[in-house]
Amino acid sequence: MAARTHTGMRGIAAVPSYVVMQPTTLCNLDCAYCYLPMRAADRRMPVAVAEAVAASVNPWAAAGRFSVVWHGGEPLAAGREHLAALLAPFGPEVEHHIQTNATLIDDAWCAFFAEHGIRVSVSVDGPRERNAERVTRGGRPAYDRILAGVAALRRHGVAFSALAVVSRPAPGLATELYDYFLDLGCDVLGVNIEETEGVNTRTNARDPAAVTAFWAELVGAWRRDPRIHLREVEWSLRYAGAVLAGAADDLLPRRLDPIPTVAHDGSVVVLSPELAGFTDPRYGDFSSGNVLATPLAEILVDAGRTLWVGEFLAGVEACRSSCPYFGFCGGGHAANRYFELGRFDGTETEHCRNSKIRLLEGVLEHARDHESPAA
Ligand code: SF4
Repeated sequence: MAARTHTGMRGIAAVPSYVVMQPTTLCNLDCAYCYLPMRAADRRMPVAVAEAVAASVNPWAAAGRFSVVWHGGEPLAAGREHLAALLAPFGPEVEHHIQTNATLIDDAWCAFFAEHGIRVSVSVDGPRERNAERVTRGGRPAYDRILAGVAALRRHGVAFSALAVVSRPAPGLATELYDYFLDLGCDVLGVNIEETEGVNTRTNARDPAAVTAFWAELVGAWRRDPRIHLREVEWSLRYAGAVLAGAADDLLPRRLDPIPTVAHDGSVVVLSPELAGFTDPRYGDFSSGNVLATPLAEILVDAGRTLWVGEFLAGVEACRSSCPYFGFCGGGHAANRYFELGRFDGTETEHCRNSKIRLLEGVLEHARDHESPAA
């Protein structure tokens, strides 16, 4: 795997494939690993911000598939009436997604999701005892409320994805989690190893062998019953297949997706939603502009000139020339570099070791361990 042969991910695309919107900074939970700095305050996005974003997004959606991802805070904490007002400026071609802790989902929310064609993704870390980090503002376990929300989704036949955070990979955990999510009824599952970012300063350095073994075990569990689209494993297998076919360079996009996050006040942070709401003496508030002053489409054309973004692009080039995993990873995430390394132009982070390098090694380990004896 010669890192220099990969030609994708050069510069930032002017048109994203999706936009992340923050309808409110507020979250009704207070999870121990949460990175969000303003989750105790209810700062709601004015409708004027949604109108300004829709002015750029609607033509993009008319030209091809396009999504808006409503992310918080807890987006349902904005309330149905306000969320409906924020959705209204977007045209019928726009796909809407919500990332939610599920605790507020009831029959009325399920009707709302159906009415607006919203795809739901639920944050839940597995069985009750695996959700100790997910607690209410009063410090009480949120698990029963999460399950009540999921039960409402199932009652109404609303398809949903799930997103799980794994803090401490250990033998047996991957199988336990996969079986749990099969029972839960989600159709897509994403698995994140806990990250050190934002106001979560806990270390994410993990035993390399334990993380690799976790991913290998997860592949095994999935292969026994692959009813769920398992995000990380499917990415890895797609990459491995492309390498075997000699087409690995076709997988990475030609340019980085800017993934603009539009904060409650209209400010736009590209590449890493996790940087929104933070400030730094050198980089200011990380934003590349505000949709109330400049159209989103124009902000993105110039996003590469934002100081930290230029440094991040230099880091991507450093990854390209030094890392054998670049063709799979594409250069990692800006927020992980910043919160782990204090800069954007570095390369390896604990996050990329846990979630890219060891993921791919885990998939290969599984393949080695299950090789046909006749092969
Ligand atoms: S972020 Fe990490 S895994 Fe990704 S290309 Fe850079 S060094 Fe490699």
